[in-house]
Amino acid sequence: RVVVGTKVDQHHVNWVTAYNMLTGIRFTVSRTNAKMDRDLTDADFDAKHKFSFDITGNELTPSAKYDFKFKDYAPWVFRHLRSTFKLDPADYLVSLTSKYILSELGSPGKSGSFFYFSRDYKYIIKTIHHAEHKFLRKILKDYYNHVQENPNTLLSQFYGLHRVKIPYGRKIHFVVMNNLFPPHRDIHRTFDLKGSTIGRDFKEEELAANPRATLKDLNWLRRDLHLEFGPTKKKMFIEQMQKDVKLLQRLHIMDYSLLVGIHDLEKGNEENLRDKTLKVFQPGGEAAEEPQPNMLMRTPSKLEASRKARELRQMVKTQKPVPMEQTSSKMPDELQDPKRNFYFYQDDGGFQATHEHDVPGEEIYYLGIIDCLTHYSLIKRMEHFIKGLANTESQISAIPPERYGDRFVKFISAVTKTKEAAEREKRQEAAH
Ligand code: ATP
Ligand code: CA
Ligand code: CA
Repeated sequence: RVVVGTKVDQHHVNWVTAYNMLTGIRFTVSRTNAKMDRDLTDADFDAKHKFSFDITGNELTPSAKYDFKFKDYAPWVFRHLRSTFKLDPADYLVSLTSKYILSELGSPGKSGSFFYFSRDYKYIIKTIHHAEHKFLRKILKDYYNHVQENPNTLLSQFYGLHRVKIPYGRKIHFVVMNNLFPPHRDIHRTFDLKGSTIGRDFKEEELAANPRATLKDLNWLRRDLHLEFGPTKKKMFIEQMQKDVKLLQRLHIMDYSLLVGIHDLEKGNEENLRDKTLKVFQPGGEAAEEPQPNMLMRTPSKLEASRKARELRQMVKTQKPVPMEQTSSKMPDELQDPKRNFYFYQDDGGFQATHEHDVPGEEIYYLGIIDCLTHYSLIKRMEHFIKGLANTESQISAIPPERYGDRFVKFISAVTKTKEAAEREKRQEAAH
């Protein structure tokens, strides 16, 4: 999360990479958006376009601060995906504009991926392994079709797939996706659930030193927690999860998890009161004192919306023309929250707990299925590698995707119940 992340400024080791990523995104996305919309063709799924940026600029690309190459994959597919997920095209560009630098969450997982948050905290850039990149391209059509049929999918929403490379540097593949967590609310507990118990324990002793840590399955069970959804939400949630997992099983995907951030409405946002401002560096500019949106405890105001609209007009002026239908004709309030249109993100960007008769509960869950680009063959390979190294039985049990998915659904379904239902079950058990 941005709160624990490092700001990427000029002094940061990954400044150039982050700058190049944003510059490339901005250029390629506005290039595609500038064209008239059209239906997708099969070729759109395989499409890739390469651009060279340098400090002087050329007939194709504007000048940039650094020399680098940028590759844009399936731009039309992602344009359509962004539209399915109801992102405002101009809003997306403003959020990822290189003027506002990202914050970095250095490799939280074992995979070596880096995570960058857009400054407004709406989007995450995740660097991915080449194998994951190739795999996403391979399954893009299946993913696209699934999303068309299931706009309320719990799977990560992918908005772009790109690659950057600096001279003599290595190729860095990355995706842009939704940040499940909200900019304006504290997340009091985070869990990453897989439905497995092997190695799925965050050491409770370390929680004091790291209160924001992501906890796992065993921590969840130890706390006897539930996803508290009454009949209507429970049914919708489980049905969607089953559909999403079916797709993952069919594509032989493994190792994904349900990420759950819990906002306790009674605790509210008190922890966010501290440290409201942070120095934000702008490329080529002076350090400016800027509010960090995620550290403020309010929804973005009308004032901010109009500032955004101003920036947007400025941007449109200084860039290639954007056709009228691409610019926003929506009112600021609608522009704020495209998430409201999606069932599992309807309650202030999340999904509020309910009681027995669908009466609203005390928590808001921010949840989704993440890390869904690991193909079974990769797990197998990693397992062999680790086994070979340690020459012992591996701790990772690479069960096939079919069983992984069934176990996942079984676990999550079993913990999806209201407080009342959980208490009833406990009384019944005690009576026996
Ligand atoms: P590994 O393969 O070792 O599990 P990874 O590098 O593939 O790690 P992920 O599992 O995708 O990383 O994510 C690691 C953590 O980053 C998650 O537990 C979560 O805290 C955060 N994270 C990932 N994706 C999102 C998202 N879409 N929204 C919010 N937080 C996220
Ligand atoms: Ca993971
Ligand atoms: Ca992973």
